[in-house]
Amino acid sequence: MNGYDEADVVVVGAGPAGSSIGHYLAQSGHRVVVLEKGTFPRDKICGDGLTPRAVAELIRMGVPTREEDGWIRNYGLRTSGAGHRIEIPWPELTTMPSYGLARSRMNLDATLAAHAKASGADIREGMSVTGAVRDERTGRIVGVNAKPVDARGRRTGDDVEIRARIVVDAGGVAARLATSAGIEKNVRRPMGVAVRTYFRSPRHDDPMMESFLELWDGKPGESNLQPGYGWIFALGDGTVNVGLGTLSPNAKPTGLDYRGLFAQWMKNVPEEWEFTPANQIGRLGSAALPMAFNRKPLYKDGLLLIGDAGGMVSPFNGEGIAYALQSGRIAADTIGQALARTSDYERVKVLRSYATTMRDDLGGYFTLGRGFAHLISSPKIMRACVRYGLPRPVLMRFVMKLLADAYDPHDGDWMDRVIAALAKAAPAA
Ligand SMILES: Cc1cc2nc3c(=O)[nH]c(=O)nc-3n(C[C@H](O)[C@H](O)[C@H](O)COP(=O)(O)OP(=O)(O)OC[C@H]3O[C@@H](n4cnc5c(N)ncnc54)[C@H](O)[C@@H]3O)c2cc1C
Repeated sequence: MNGYDEADVVVVGAGPAGSSIGHYLAQSGHRVVVLEKGTFPRDKICGDGLTPRAVAELIRMGVPTREEDGWIRNYGLRTSGAGHRIEIPWPELTTMPSYGLARSRMNLDATLAAHAKASGADIREGMSVTGAVRDERTGRIVGVNAKPVDARGRRTGDDVEIRARIVVDAGGVAARLATSAGIEKNVRRPMGVAVRTYFRSPRHDDPMMESFLELWDGKPGESNLQPGYGWIFALGDGTVNVGLGTLSPNAKPTGLDYRGLFAQWMKNVPEEWEFTPANQIGRLGSAALPMAFNRKPLYKDGLLLIGDAGGMVSPFNGEGIAYALQSGRIAADTIGQALARTSDYERVKVLRSYATTMRDDLGGYFTLGRGFAHLISSPKIMRACVRYGLPRPVLMRFVMKLLADAYDPHDGDWMDRVIAALAKAAPAA
């Protein structure tokens, strides 16, 4: 043991959630240490797509997203299925811009971590958190133990103990610290599994995000439809991110052969993308997407959960970056308020309100998403929705707003008002 260090807040993980909370806490003058087991730039299996909701969070953080800095904008979604193809622009809203972005996670996460560092966060790379430190008397979590590691995860030195007034798990889907603290995942909430790789492509600067709502296990129309959807997100640097995702409404393994399905899909994708083996860069990697608050409570015994650690991926579209950034921002605000209180009782009361705020913001919307997950897990229903829905532009505009969480809750159009009313009426659990 190398002795111990102290901070106001210690955060596990410097993904989007960890960098967001690091930035906001440091900006408001708190001493925040963020421990990241990787070393930037490091990869993360992801689709690399940022919807307008995520872009709005980047703007709030003050992250420059100019095109001259290598950010590529997209202006909507092109969707195909059941013989139809439709392009829907991102809506014009007051709460978010009418464009999305795409950037490899190799690049995005390093940029966000550097931004948090510039704001004053103490980001320590190559530090793997191994467990929580608890107060012997109260049982409250008062810090973490961590070991220094190299890029391959091998120990490079002695353990350190870092004590803090508040501990945050932003460690992604594994949520190692939360799990060790007894906060288990709820297997009745939806869970996604997705695979992705990169290709060089002449369409690397396509201005639309592309999605395919039909995945066949053989020739289109002559084989079986599989649950899930495929995406192509142009990165503007000569490459595109290509992946497919499936959704299980109750976290049960789908038993799908993802690699086989991906290989088949590549045969069915239009040739102009040039997805040949020679153009593929890197391996096909897979990872899980924890959805609809599948790990709760979001605050317990001095520990807050943000981002994937709290299961904040949307069941509607597999998007998690926007919610990781948002939860980091809200948790930082709550922690700032809590640290200014004069008694433990008050501090705990304020920290608990983080869970309530998140539930009020997203609980109803995620409940709708859980219903959606049940519905589309049947390929037959999914196909009926695609066949009936895609040719109807007004309906599709509504669906896009719903699926991308891109609506104005207060002063939007009739579609926004319907979605806001549905999200409010759905029980937030
Ligand atoms: C295939 C796939 C495609 C996806 N596509 C999209 C998409 O296009 N758009 C979108 O918005 N979302 C997408 N998602 C979801 C998105 O990747 C996550 O929701 C997002 O990364 C969550 O951010 P986070 O900061 O909570 O966690 P993460 O990004 O997972 O970051 C967690 C960090 O914690 C570190 N860490 C973990 N354990 C420890 C430890 N013990 N000690 C120290 N550090 C630790 C990790 O190294 C990592 O850097 C996709 C997910 C998958 C799997």
